[in-house]
Amino acid sequence: MPLWVKRIVYPLIIPTVLIILSALVIWKWPDLVHKINQVKELRALLIILPVLPYAVCALGIIMGWRYGNAGMMLASLALAISYLVVDGFTPASVVAGGIGPSLPKTVAFLLPLNLAVFTLLTKRRIFTSTGVLFVFLVMLQISAVVVLCSPPHDPGARLLSRMGSLSPEGTKKLTEFLTGLRSFFHDSSLFGHARVSTSSIIAYSLALVFVLIRFLLRRDVILGGFLGALVATFIGIAADSLEPSMMIFFSAAGFMLIITSIEASFSLAYMDDLTGLPGRRSLNQSLGELGKKYAIAMIDIDLFKKFNDRYGHQTGDQVLKMVASKLRNMSGGSKAFRYGGEEFTAIFPGKDAEEAVPYLQKYRRMIENTPFVVRSKTRRKSTSKSRGKTKLSGLRRAKVTVSIGVAAPDKDLANPERVLKAADKALYKAKKAGRNRVKI
Ligand code: GH3
Ligand code: MG
Ligand code: MG
Repeated sequence: MPLWVKRIVYPLIIPTVLIILSALVIWKWPDLVHKINQVKELRALLIILPVLPYAVCALGIIMGWRYGNAGMMLASLALAISYLVVDGFTPASVVAGGIGPSLPKTVAFLLPLNLAVFTLLTKRRIFTSTGVLFVFLVMLQISAVVVLCSPPHDPGARLLSRMGSLSPEGTKKLTEFLTGLRSFFHDSSLFGHARVSTSSIIAYSLALVFVLIRFLLRRDVILGGFLGALVATFIGIAADSLEPSMMIFFSAAGFMLIITSIEASFSLAYMDDLTGLPGRRSLNQSLGELGKKYAIAMIDIDLFKKFNDRYGHQTGDQVLKMVASKLRNMSGGSKAFRYGGEEFTAIFPGKDAEEAVPYLQKYRRMIENTPFVVRSKTRRKSTSKSRGKTKLSGLRRAKVTVSIGVAAPDKDLANPERVLKAADKALYKAKKAGRNRVKI
């Protein structure tokens, strides 16, 4: 599978599995309840279950705070509030409230938009000016919803009537505006669904497109979780029977945010950020899982310090990325790691050193023959007058080469750590012999 397909498919596996599981649970719900009811010890579970979404969301809020992920924190909060509003909204209170029914529909409109916006905050802590601003915006929405959806005898409406005695003209306009807003949230004419209004379909579509585009551009696991949460909450709200579906799908949405966040921090620890290769920790793990026959190669970029000095650290980083991506795609069934700095490691399971050499030579030649186009320092320092002139000469082709040392286990080299040391020694030999070569 090509890498870019993997990077789109993998982050979506967890959300998809959770959605399918939730659907299965709901499908078998009557059977499940029946079975649970038969076992005395499990009966308490049925009482606890409706609290599950709150528990999951609470966990999400705590984790979002600890992980420095304000997006997840706010999303969990929004899920909990939405669940409270939609699920806690029994028909009895609708009758008592009069105008009430638009409350769940308002939530079904606001939730997706909020989730979409919160994806912008997944790399931010909550106690920053932006984080606090968003918390404020959430409060503002809650207040607006309370005023908008309050029945006539509620505080919100009372506030309106008191304002009426101060400025009848303004209040009349405000009331008209609110009535318009209410009918906007209430209108289900387009789809004729009891809980899902046209406005919420529009909101969900917009949010889905927005998050999907962001996900495709970044291929971020956390964004995959948000995508799943959008789909799950929509199914939860739109499903025929609110009773188990809201509870299960909102819990699933919360779980998606949590699991994808764990996944993201896992890759933070095991993957190298710059090159996208697995890092040292992964290498140590892989070394422990090797069989009897294998070869280990150490790859080091030649005279990289000079390269950095001449072209700058950022260009150096670009070179690292290029060298790494070519190493990842090296033939011979090898697995590549970033050892550290400008050093890489490749493991060849099932091959000895001699068998690995042809693949390494091919890789070395490929790097040698890949010209790296860089802007030289003279251009960056040039004045605005001479900039036009130096533009062409400022682009230079820099040659990058690598030296490689490779080793395989034998009587003296019994464990992978020793083999790796031997490969490092071979690398040193390659450097001494004039660089840009492979040594055993
Ligand atoms: P040799 O051919 O002997 O390997 O020479 P060298 O200059 O490559 O060797 P040395 O190990 O002395 O220098 C490694 C340099 O790699 C030092 C540092 O500036 C650079 N380097 C290490 N990590 C990074 C990185 O993440 N980005 C960039 N741009 N440079 C790095
Ligand atoms: Mg080095
Ligand atoms: Mg080097």
